[in-house]
Amino acid sequence: MTSLNDLPLRDDLRGREPYGAPQLDVPYALNTNENPYPPSERLVKAIGEAAMGVAGTLNRYPDRDAVALRADLAAFLNTDTPAAGLTVERVWAANGSNEIIQQILQAFGGPGRTALGFEPSYSMHPIITAVSGTRWVNAFRDEDFGLEPERAVAAVEEHRPDVVFLTSPNNPTGTALPLDAIKAVLAAAPGVVVVDEAYAEFRRAGTPSALTLLDGHPRLIVTRTMSKAFAMAGARLGYLAADPAVIEALLLVRLPYHLSAVTQAVARTALAHGEELLGGVEALRRERDAVVGWLRAEGFRVADSDANFVLFGTFPDRRKVWEGLLGRGVLIREVGPPEWLRVSVGTPGEMAAFRTALQQVRGGTT
Ligand code: PMP
Repeated sequence: MTSLNDLPLRDDLRGREPYGAPQLDVPYALNTNENPYPPSERLVKAIGEAAMGVAGTLNRYPDRDAVALRADLAAFLNTDTPAAGLTVERVWAANGSNEIIQQILQAFGGPGRTALGFEPSYSMHPIITAVSGTRWVNAFRDEDFGLEPERAVAAVEEHRPDVVFLTSPNNPTGTALPLDAIKAVLAAAPGVVVVDEAYAEFRRAGTPSALTLLDGHPRLIVTRTMSKAFAMAGARLGYLAADPAVIEALLLVRLPYHLSAVTQAVARTALAHGEELLGGVEALRRERDAVVGWLRAEGFRVADSDANFVLFGTFPDRRKVWEGLLGRGVLIREVGPPEWLRVSVGTPGEMAAFRTALQQVRGGTT
């Protein structure tokens, strides 16, 4: 039997583990920040028809530049943040925002270059960075998981990174960044600044999007995804908004025809039903605020959340709590600072199951 060690694998990949949120078959999956609401029957039918519509042309390659899809995404972003004034030349799409991040690193990172992030944050940023041959540098968020502009700027000035990652709302903490922190980093950063807004649609009223900063900041890249608010994690569609020159740079590294005709058609259909899909966002926001209130009333520490998940603690032995919940059919995520756990916001029924299980685990009920 050949083992990985027998293969001429890149030295810097030896000893690494693949990304691995557990994929377990449980009654209550609250671990990967998915949207719990499946597409309606009407949308299922529309997606089926859209797939049929392209099926007869699958002998041909798809539109390499996904122009129609990017125009639809620009139109959606303009409804989300009217001040953004986006056009097709300023929007780019790929297979999930993970692929978007990979393309950014392929274009702006690479051997001899550095990317900086502020932990705790999304675990794939350092992983995709390393796999692209870029050096990863860790700085840290504040105690309350925010980011004081002065501290952020100090880290940027110390490391002079080619790529800076700011995640807002942040995963796994849920914390949104004020625009002055992003502006301060933009002013100090010598390279590109990526604001990962995977959860932006869940932000609370009054929390602005970095899309409003695109004008006048040609090195700002705002990434988004259809995996969360749009409830399309299975379709794999991520996107970004940036200066047209950034998109020209990404065209140099993207694989030809990276977005399949089926993906493009499905994503456009989902966008056409955007109102229905985003209809669940309001319910998830309410459910999130309710679970934050409940956890606080129960005496837990809870990070403020502008996302569809909540980080709570603190537990001297979080593994035990995680296992206790799992034993009751509730799968959450052991992620973030060592004494904290993250729960994704599900349906009212799923959250009721979570609350009951957590009370039992805490009370030692078997
Ligand atoms: N960014 C953040 C902050 C995330 O939490 C995730 C998914 N967990 C992603 C990007 C990637 O999402 P996708 O590839 O599904 O768009």
